[in-house]
Formats: sequence, C-alpha cells, structure tokens
Amino acid sequence: MAAKVNADSCVACGACADACPNGAITIEDVAVVDADKCVDCGACVDACPSEAITD
Ligand code: SF4
Ligand code: SF4
Repeated sequence: MAAKVNADSCVACGACADACPNGAITIEDVAVVDADKCVDCGACVDACPSEAITD
C-alpha cells in the first residue's frame, strides 16, 4: 500500500512532500506518491491542509 492523493482536493502546496521522511512524494499538477518508497507512516496525512492525502 501507499498513501493516496485525491486530485480533486490537492492544491499542490508541497507540505506532504516536505513532511515525508522517505522522499516518496513529488509535486506535479498534484502530489504524486512513489509507492516503492512509501512506508505508510502517515506523516503526509497529518501535514496536508486540505485532507487530500490518505494512508
Ligand atoms: S505515508 Fe509516509 S512514507 Fe508514505 S508518502 Fe506519506 S509521509 Fe511519505
Ligand atoms: S499537502 Fe495535501 S494539498 Fe498539499 S500537495 Fe500534499 S496532498 Fe496536495
């Protein structure tokens, strides 16, 4: 499993990418999670101001 981004609510602010300890998130039009790097820690979920990412 990996964190999932809701593209309709993501505003590409980058907070999740900054919070991720594994560099698993890049910001394109919306946040994109690299499932091979994600360890489901939940840090991005807590960091998102838009509740756009779930674990
Ligand atoms: S759950 Fe953790 S490892 Fe996975 S993308 Fe979010 S912050 Fe990164
Ligand atoms: S913190 Fe939330 S709104 Fe910001 S880029 Fe990540 S998923 Fe999108």
